[in-house]
Amino acid sequence: MTDLDRNLAAVHERIAAATARAGRAPGSVELIAVTKTFPAEVVRAAWEAGQSLFGENRVQEAAAKIPDLPGGARWHLIGHLQKNKVRRALPLFELLHSIDSRDLAEAVDRIAAEEGLFPRVLLEVNVAGEASKFGFAPDALERELDALLALPRLQIEGLMTIAPFADDPELARPHFRALRALRDRLAARTGLPFGTLSMGMSGDFEIAVEEGATLVRVGSAIFGSR
Ligand SMILES: *Cc1c(COP(=O)(O)O)cnc(C)c1O
Repeated sequence: MTDLDRNLAAVHERIAAATARAGRAPGSVELIAVTKTFPAEVVRAAWEAGQSLFGENRVQEAAAKIPDLPGGARWHLIGHLQKNKVRRALPLFELLHSIDSRDLAEAVDRIAAEEGLFPRVLLEVNVAGEASKFGFAPDALERELDALLALPRLQIEGLMTIAPFADDPELARPHFRALRALRDRLAARTGLPFGTLSMGMSGDFEIAVEEGATLVRVGSAIFGSR
C-alpha cells in the first residue's frame, strides 16, 4: 500500500462516517480527487487505486493531463472559467462547477449551442460575500435564476461553494448550511430539484457532508500539500 492508497482509503472512510452521522444514505456523496498541480503519473496512480472522478481548476492544465489517463476517467472543472476557454473546456468536462456569473452562463450557453452540446453545470455561490472569491451573491442568484433557467443549453444541476479559509472546520458549517438553504428555496420556487451540492475540501469535507454535500472536492488530503 502506498501513501496515496492509504490517503484515499482514509478519505473514503471519513466520508462514509460523516454520511452515517448525518443519517444519509450510504454512497450519497461522491469524492472528486482534485489533481491540480499534480502530474499525470500521480493521477494515474489514483486511477489505479480505484479513483475515477477527478477535478481540475484550469482548462489548460486539464487538457494536458486528460489524454494521459484511461478514457473511463471523468473530469470536473472546479475553478473559474474564462470566457475565452469555454469552447476548449466543453468537451473535456462532464460537469462545470463554476458558472459564477450571468455573463459566463450566457457565453457557455451560446458556445454550447454552436457545438451542439448541453453542458451539465453548477452555479457557484459566494455565500460569505468574500471580495476575493468568484460566484453569485445569494440574493443576486435568487433574482437572476429565471434568466439562467431560460438558457436552453445549460443543464443546471445544483450549486457549488467554497467556504472561507479557516483553521477550524466548524466555521465552515454555517456557509454550507446557507448554501443548502438557498438550494431549498430555489427548488421550492421552481419545482426543480437542484440535487447536486458541491461543497467541502480537505479541511472541511466532513462538515460539508453533514450539511448535505453530494460532491466533495478533495486534493491535499489525498495527494499531499501542493
Ligand atoms: C484546490 C481546490 C480544491 C481542493 O483543495 P484541498 O484543500 O487541496 O482539498 C477544492 N475546490 C476548489 C475549487 C479548488 O480550487
